[in-house]
Amino acid sequence: MSRPETVGTLLAAIANLVSEGLRILSFADKRQWGPDEHEQARALQEVLDEAKKDFQELSPLVNGQFHYEHDRKYDSIEELKALCSKFQLHVNTLKDWARTGGPINPVWVRETKSLQKQLHRAQCRAARRIHASEQEGTSRCLGAWLVHRVQRSWSNTTSEITDEELRRRHLQEIMACKRVGVFERFGECDIAFICNYCDGHLMWEDLDSMPAARSAPPGTVEEVSPQPQRSNTLFWQASSIARTNGQEKQIVYAPFAIANHIAPIHRDWQARIICPICEEEGCRPQDEDDDEDPYRPDGEFDDVAALQEHLEWEHPPTTVPPTAGTTAVAKDASGTNSCSVM
Ligand SMILES: [Zn+2]
Ligand SMILES: [Zn+2]
Repeated sequence: MSRPETVGTLLAAIANLVSEGLRILSFADKRQWGPDEHEQARALQEVLDEAKKDFQELSPLVNGQFHYEHDRKYDSIEELKALCSKFQLHVNTLKDWARTGGPINPVWVRETKSLQKQLHRAQCRAARRIHASEQEGTSRCLGAWLVHRVQRSWSNTTSEITDEELRRRHLQEIMACKRVGVFERFGECDIAFICNYCDGHLMWEDLDSMPAARSAPPGTVEEVSPQPQRSNTLFWQASSIARTNGQEKQIVYAPFAIANHIAPIHRDWQARIICPICEEEGCRPQDEDDDEDPYRPDGEFDDVAALQEHLEWEHPPTTVPPTAGTTAVAKDASGTNSCSVM
């Protein structure tokens, strides 16, 4: 009887398949090779490198390598098993090519890259499931937690934040988000963020582009806020332009929402979001008798629009006018041009 499959045994099986693919290429007659063959070999090596890097980075987030390797959650096992079969088919294709010879099919490298992405996400999701099972009650998706961790690292700042420091922070937040998922144009007008760790979608409706900075720098408010440690989460607004009519509008700053999302409930696709300001204040509404109070007892919001409604109502940025010290729509603040919407 074979041993039960675990995340570790399936990842090892996939790594073996990729190594086999590399071996097939290494035994081929390289004198005949063109750029396609070299690219195929590079792509396979990248799959191995990223898988190893992911494994090393994710293990410590979920109580160590032993824990991660021996995990046997049904969804993770099913997902990795299906992926293993895909890798098997892919390597079989390379085997056939080695037997028949001739130039390699340049389309296969795209398949390799697609499998690499799927493997990356499968590892993220496996780690997220372990992370979720270790938390009590509702809590952030592991992807959200990784962005939240970056924001929390600034909470001890007591000195005034310079513009340069502020830019650095915005860049750190955006880069953290991009490591966790992708921004994509959704339909004609909307922009979605899709988390690699939970597949949850966060939707911003009617947006021309995603602003890469908050509307008002935290430093501005820090001077007037009695609790400077909260200044990182207080600023939830960012200025953008509506896609439909070109009007300026205030939206929830993307990393603010991403850092606080919860994995969707089974088979749902939109991530829910918790309000971090309520969370810090102990989840108590200002006035429990107010019927119009959009505060939810469970502190969760179904989507970005519901969160924004709550923020506008409960946490309006009254201390600073929305336009003060604006650094809005700094599209290039992320320092990359890799995404068309960000
Ligand atoms: Zn997530
Ligand atoms: Zn709140």
